[in-house]
Amino acid sequence: MTLEQLQTQFEAFKAKKLSLDMSRGKPSAAQLDLSNELLDTVTSNDYLSSTGAETRNYGGLDGLPATKQLFKDFLEVSSVEEVVIGGNASLTIMHDIISRGITHGMCDSYQPWGKEKIKFICPVPGYDRHFSICEHFGIDMIPVACTEDGPDMDVVEKLVANDSSIKGIWIVPKYSNPTGLSCSDEVVNRLSMMNTAAEDFRIFWDNAYAVHHLSEDQDQLKNILTTCKEFGNDNRPFILCSTSKITFAGAGVAAVGGSTDNMDWYRKHLFISTIGPDKLNQERHNRFFKNIEGLYEHMKKHAALLKPRFVKTLSILEEELGGTNLATWTKPKGGYFISFNVPEGCAKRVVALSAEAGVKLTGAGATYPYKKDPKNSNIRLAPSCPTIDEIEQAMRIVCLATKIAALEMKAS
Ligand code: PLP
Repeated sequence: MTLEQLQTQFEAFKAKKLSLDMSRGKPSAAQLDLSNELLDTVTSNDYLSSTGAETRNYGGLDGLPATKQLFKDFLEVSSVEEVVIGGNASLTIMHDIISRGITHGMCDSYQPWGKEKIKFICPVPGYDRHFSICEHFGIDMIPVACTEDGPDMDVVEKLVANDSSIKGIWIVPKYSNPTGLSCSDEVVNRLSMMNTAAEDFRIFWDNAYAVHHLSEDQDQLKNILTTCKEFGNDNRPFILCSTSKITFAGAGVAAVGGSTDNMDWYRKHLFISTIGPDKLNQERHNRFFKNIEGLYEHMKKHAALLKPRFVKTLSILEEELGGTNLATWTKPKGGYFISFNVPEGCAKRVVALSAEAGVKLTGAGATYPYKKDPKNSNIRLAPSCPTIDEIEQAMRIVCLATKIAALEMKAS
């Protein structure tokens, strides 16, 4: 088709004055409804924990025993000592760990991170909020490209071996934001065993999508803490998770796992910043799930809502752009996102054209440190919120915008 013909199609879409949104990586209203009964599990005359603990008062710094047990299983750590239950957001835990690293240092630091200019490795494309934390604290970000198996380990190993100011790496190990891909066993091994010039190097293992499979065909990952321990690097990983995309986003329960030394260090700092967490919400979650099996069962209901949305998004991409050599995209088995790569130099134009026709997309560049995608090529697609019909319309527009942007570039 010529550019003129595509533009005629585009004008027809514009005339519909649509308002569609493929940018929001959050649960749909129907997904939130799946957890409504959680709100009724704790009532005005039934609120004590299973061990009789008072949930309405201070105390229980690192979580109710049953919540710690639930998250021990979720995080796949070996004891409840290796778990601390947080507040409503894993992002807050990540922020606080780094903040305390800067002011006080890690449990094995010889000086606080803030005494030197430190750096983090940022696999790209990645999660913008990780990059915002680094930017906020003035941590230099080193982008490293992702392969289908996780970050390019040849590059990561060289960097960390030679520079003691590199203190951390962000990893979304399973169904990553935004690629939807997972780390292979080899990547888990290499991250666990690699030599780091910094003795207090940390992996921020953000397992936000640990149980967010779309079907029975699931990615299974090697256990990062056990593997790090095998190589004598017990303190290397902090493992993060939350129920934000399991129960209620913003009103769930977050947790962190890691070596006992790491967790004791975290408990020590937590003792200063809080007198106790929200145990009522922990108890709601304990009662709602009962155990990890209950949580896994609950995730199947999410999958039933999410899978058709992913299938629709991928089928329109294939129909419109398959075999054109214009774009590539990931085909995740779980998570919330599809990573869509348009011709180099075109991502911003595709996002702008889509917006003109009524489709909101995540800003081009958002998946890179400092919001700068050097190739201006990556776009994050989030299919969880729109209806199937909305996805159909939105994706037709995104694909049309891609074809127009590519032809415009060729013509220029
Ligand atoms: N980590 C990743 C990779 C995410 O995609 C998100 C949310 O989109 C979060 C963390 C935020 O989690 P929480 O709500 O627990 O802070």
